[in-house]
Amino acid sequence: MRNYQIAVLPGDGIGPEVVNETMKVLEILKKLDSTLHMEFDTFHWNSEYYLQHGEIMPKNGLETLKKYDAILFGAIGDQRVPDEVTIWKLIMPIRKQFNQYINFRPVKLLQGIASPLTDGGDIDFVIIRENAEGEYSNSGGRLYPGFEQEIAVQNTIFTRKGTAKAARFAFEYAKRNRKRSVTSATKSNAIIHSMKLWDEVVQEISEEFPAIKLDSYYIDALAAYFVSRPKDFEVVVASNLFGDILSDLGSAVVGGLGLSPSANLNPEGDYPSMFEPVHGSAPDIAGKGVANPIAQIWSAALMLEHLGRADLAGVIVDAIERVLLEKEVRTPDLGGTSTTSEMGTAICEALQQIL
Ligand code: ATP
Ligand code: MG
Repeated sequence: MRNYQIAVLPGDGIGPEVVNETMKVLEILKKLDSTLHMEFDTFHWNSEYYLQHGEIMPKNGLETLKKYDAILFGAIGDQRVPDEVTIWKLIMPIRKQFNQYINFRPVKLLQGIASPLTDGGDIDFVIIRENAEGEYSNSGGRLYPGFEQEIAVQNTIFTRKGTAKAARFAFEYAKRNRKRSVTSATKSNAIIHSMKLWDEVVQEISEEFPAIKLDSYYIDALAAYFVSRPKDFEVVVASNLFGDILSDLGSAVVGGLGLSPSANLNPEGDYPSMFEPVHGSAPDIAGKGVANPIAQIWSAALMLEHLGRADLAGVIVDAIERVLLEKEVRTPDLGGTSTTSEMGTAICEALQQIL
């Protein structure tokens, strides 16, 4: 069995708190399953590091990370440091350099959690967000700053290749997991250049997968359907901006940010993929020991799945559901009074019961 090398970046705010619980879970898992070999190196490249060193990671930071099999990331963000640094000098370079062009987000209503929308139904789908191009390009500028005539231009860049890779990942995921449909988020009625290319390419790729039905919806309608009939979806594929918005909406539908994991995937595996919760550093609750660690722990489960241990990923999700079903240990976001550490410990205990 391979010995996986994992880089751990706890980050800012509640990041280190929820990563700490995740490490507890992974260490227990290693003890319980002797075939799991995994070593961790922790890098404190965060806002504090930036304030001390004038850069958020060392010049050779990406070279260092490149050698790992995966990156487990907490969250980054601090009011003393501009987003230009945390996002554009840390998160974006990692995503870009390591070609993590898929953002993968499960939207699954766990047992023991009540959705604000349904009573105990089975909302269970995934969002595949194109993660490398689209609306979040760095291209554009401002003219006549401060004048009444000021103009801002933000370019959206869709490539046939980039769109095809995202669409193909979605259809292959659907096929691998025996799903019957892929839903595409579009807005080609109003965004007539980039979104028409998106539609064309998604349609072309879908023809390679005749057993899987392609549904295409305008983003505004689709957002409403997420609320009115969330059980109908299986795999949703969306551009960078649409996928970002749908992910937060999806997260709200299944119980909130404290429960929402994500993966930034490099499907070819030539660079490490990165696993992080959907939530940010949550400065409002940082340092209080009340953050829900489930999103981070579930993100680590996605990491194990990506590394070829879907069996252990499943066991982690089972352990989380077991704790949620018992309803004794709940962090404040789930209406309880438990601490981050109590939740982590309860999940470790559930793992010991299962394995
Ligand atoms: P960032 O800029 O870092 O993305 P943000 O302001 O977008 O941060 P989040 O950090 O995602 O916000 O938090 C949004 C809200 O959700 C906050 O009120 C926060 O306390 C809450 N929240 C986020 N993550 C968790 C968690 N793991 N457990 C409990 N509450 C959380
Ligand atoms: Mg945020």
